[in-house]
This record gives sequence, C-alpha cells and structure tokens, in this order.
Amino acid sequence: MEDACFRCLKMGNRNSTERERQRLNIEKTAALFTCPFCKRKKSCYVKIDREKNIGKIKCNECKRHTFTNMTYLTTPVQVFLKCEEKIQTAAN
Ligand SMILES: [Zn+2]
Repeated sequence: MEDACFRCLKMGNRNSTERERQRLNIEKTAALFTCPFCKRKKSCYVKIDREKNIGKIKCNECKRHTFTNMTYLTTPVQVFLKCEEKIQTAAN
C-alpha cells in the first residue's frame, strides 16, 4: 500500500518534470509565426536547409508552404519575413 503510493508520487513528479522539459524544448527550437496564408497565430514554422541554402516555411493549420533563398547568416525570423514578402508580392 505504502509502496504503491510512493510510486504514484514518484511517477507524478517525473511526468511533470518531463512535461516541463518538453515545453522548454519547444520554446527554444520551434519558431512559430502567424501564418501568412490563413493568418492563424503560431501555426507556421520555419525549416532551414543549410545544404541547399533555402529556408522553408510551412503552416500546421492550412498545410500551405513556401520557400526562399538564404545564406548561412539568415535567421529563421528573416526566412519567415522573406517568405511573407514573397507571398504578399504574389498576391498583389
Ligand atoms: Zn496557414
């Protein structure tokens, strides 16, 4: 009885620290932006292909995507802004 309670307690603790770690990882690695296609917030992520020097953005909601040329100095934010500009230019 005591044993089981102790295990529950331990498991509870481990789960919460794991969740906490996952949350931190997501905040650190995933750059989420407002989708330039469907305008949903935090649905668009940036993927960088260092070999081909292209930056891609893709939306989790509407599944639309686009890409832009970049250099090794380009940051994910700049990739997103360039893609957004490209979409807006195409729309006008
Ligand atoms: Zn979208």
